[in-house]
This record gives sequence, C-alpha cells and structure tokens, in this order.
Amino acid sequence: MKKKIAILGSTGSIGKSTIDILKKNKNEFDLVLLTTNRNYKELYTQAKIFNVKNLIITNNKSFNLFRKKFKNKRFKVFNNFSCLNRIFKKKIDYSMSAISGLDGLEPTLKIIKFSKKIAVANKEAIICGWSLIKKALKKNNTEFLPVDSEHFSIWSLIKNHQNELIDKVYLTASGGPFLNFPFNKLKKVLPKNAIKHPNWSMGKKISIDSATMMNKVFEVIETQRIFDLPKSKIHILIHEKSYVHAIVQFKNGLNKILAHDTSMKIPIFNTIYENKKFIKTKDLDIRNLNNLNLKIIDKKKFPLIEILKFIPETNSLFETLLVSANDELVNLFLDKKISYINFQKRLKNFIKLKEFRKLRRKKPKNIKEIYALNEYVRLKIKSLCI
Ligand code: NDP
Ligand code: MG
Repeated sequence: MKKKIAILGSTGSIGKSTIDILKKNKNEFDLVLLTTNRNYKELYTQAKIFNVKNLIITNNKSFNLFRKKFKNKRFKVFNNFSCLNRIFKKKIDYSMSAISGLDGLEPTLKIIKFSKKIAVANKEAIICGWSLIKKALKKNNTEFLPVDSEHFSIWSLIKNHQNELIDKVYLTASGGPFLNFPFNKLKKVLPKNAIKHPNWSMGKKISIDSATMMNKVFEVIETQRIFDLPKSKIHILIHEKSYVHAIVQFKNGLNKILAHDTSMKIPIFNTIYENKKFIKTKDLDIRNLNNLNLKIIDKKKFPLIEILKFIPETNSLFETLLVSANDELVNLFLDKKISYINFQKRLKNFIKLKEFRKLRRKKPKNIKEIYALNEYVRLKIKSLCI
C-alpha cells in the first residue's frame, strides 16, 4: 500500500528536499497535503507532479491568485489549517513539519492528531511549544522524529539505549562565517557577510543565527526537550567541516560519533525510510575524519552563548521570549537598522528585563499564550529600537 504523506511548508528548503526524495520513488507515496505561505506557483508544480488534491495557501493574496489562475483544476484549496478535520478521515503515515518560525507551531500541533509519525524540522515549534507537542504526541499516540541534523544524529545514536546510560551529548557547530574573523572587525560586519555560511545553504534568518551561534543555543534547548536531558549533559564543540553532527558519550565507556555529508537530505531521507531503503551518497571522506579539529567555543566572539545559563530545565514561556526577541532583532539587522554587535547586546539585555523574570517559571498553558507573548515581544522590540 502507498504511504500517505503530508508536507507542511513544502515550498521551503526542507520541504523541497523532502519532495526531491519522494520524487525518486513516486509510486510508493500518496501525497495528501502540501502547504505554502506565498509561493503558490511552486505549490502548483509540486501538486501536479504528485497529483495532490489538498493544498493550503496561508497568504491571502497568493490564495486568491491560485484560485484565479488554476480554477479549472481539481484541487481543494484552503486558506488556513482549520480544514484538517475535513481533509483527513483517518491517520496518515507520515507528516513533515517544515514551516519556518513560530507560525509553524499551530499547524504542527494540529497535524499530530492525524499522523502516525511526525518528522519536525521547525525548530521554533520544538523550542517554544515542546510541552504542548509532547502532550499531543502522547494523546494521539503519534511517533516523533527529529529532522535537524544534530538531533537526528543524537536520536540515531541513542536509539535502544536507556536515558540513564547517557553521560554527555556533544553538538557540533561549524562556527559560521566569523569563526576565523578578527574580533575587532566584527563591528563593521554587514548582513551580506553574516549570511554567507561556509558549509550549509540555508535561508537568511537561520544563517544569521549560525553566525551569532544563537542557532546552537536553540539546538541545546531542542536537545534538552526532545531527549529529556539536563543542560549539564549537553555540550557544544566547534567543528568547522560540519562532518560530525553529534557525539554521545555513554556510561558504559563507549563514545558514538555520527558523521554524514552536509546535506539535510540525509536526515530527511532517514526519517522517511528508517533503513528500509538506501540513498546514494559520497564515500566516507577520510580527509575530514583525519582533520576533525574539534574546539571549544570562544565566548568573547560568540557572546550569545552565555544566554544558555538562563534557559530553564523544562519548557517555559522564556523560550518564546528568546525566539521572538531574537527573530525581531535579526530582522532589524537584516534591514540595516541596527549593527551586528549592537543587536546581540540588545538581545542579551532585553531578555533580562525585570518584567520577563517570571516567564522562566511559567509553563505554556496553551498556544494562545505563546502567540500573545510573541506579539507583545515583537512590538516592544520595535518600539525600543526604531
Ligand atoms: P524556508 O523559509 O525555506 O521555508 C519555510 C516554508 O514555510 C515555506 O514553504 C514557506 O512558504 C512556509 N511558511 C513561511 N511562513 C509561513 C506562515 N506564516 N504560514 C504558513 N507557511 C509559512 O525554511 P526552511 O525550510 O529552511 O526551514 C524550515 C524549518 O526547519 C525552520 O524552522 C528551520 O529553522 C528548520 N531547519 C532548517 C534547516 C535547513 O537546512 N534549512 C536545518 C534544520 C532546521 P513560502 O515558500 O511561501 O515562503
Ligand atoms: Mg542544526
């Protein structure tokens, strides 16, 4: 029987990689839902290839344009995620959650109910809403699969091990474009310099997070939540080549290392096939292995790493504060309204404001609370910085 699949955010980088993988064995899959925000033309192309009936286009203008241009075609097009009850009569096999930003949390929570397995790339959903996701997974008996390369690696390494056996987990960080950049020149850095990631090809926002190392702060939080590990067991190592993605040190004396090429297609492929099919990859790169060159982080150059000390052990509203404030400040930096050094200083100061102190002890009760805080934080940042 064909595997029934849905992709949230199919027109993005992770979404397109997922589509590329499925295309190779098209007859094995029945794509039941694809979604986009604006990119209705790409969505149409994808829908035609896989003969997909249900589409969601959240941006109103794109939604209307799609309906006008392709009105004779036999698609069911929706404008938001409230339609899932109507689309799914029973559980599908696999969903990919690959919408970017906090807007992906609500669709992720909604689709859990209709999925046997959900692969989640959307970091913000995991970071801000893990307690809600966990509850929904349990209630609906849905299996969770991490997609982010570090977390997919840890997941693969600790499979079939008890949590007590894990001594330490190391996440690797490439160091981004400024690893070997002189510290005193960081003041003059422009958005175009900061988005040039040496190893991965990604969107602007996540590239800036890699440059500032905020991405690793987020990934430590993801690790805490997904694997239920205390912060003290999670460490970051600089590894310029990004060949090794995670190392797990076990209490039985074994250290397991997971290495693969810098392509997100590898973790995505493995969440779909789980060792039941093979992917064509390059040979093991001995030069990379001979030159792992793992280092600890220079906190002076990457001051946002210090934010880690404020992260609570369990999911709280503080993570929403952090994600939203960082997102808004990154936008201001990308719009050249604020400098590279300044936006990081402001982020560190902003999250320490007295009014936010209690957030660390508040577990999100529902999604509304997360979205309300997100809105408040963004407005406040704008009022302070513009
Ligand atoms: P992209 O920006 O490339 O794609 C995002 C997708 O979500 C697009 O389909 C986009 O539509 C859609 N989208 C954006 N905003 C909304 C919205 N408000 N409502 C509904 N749909 C929306 O992101 P990536 O694929 O790079 O990343 C997706 C997630 O995965 C992020 O959370 C990212 O942090 C995480 N991730 C990404 C990695 C990577 O290598 N790219 C690695 C690890 C994690 P449209 O095309 O119209 O913009
Ligand atoms: Mg990652």
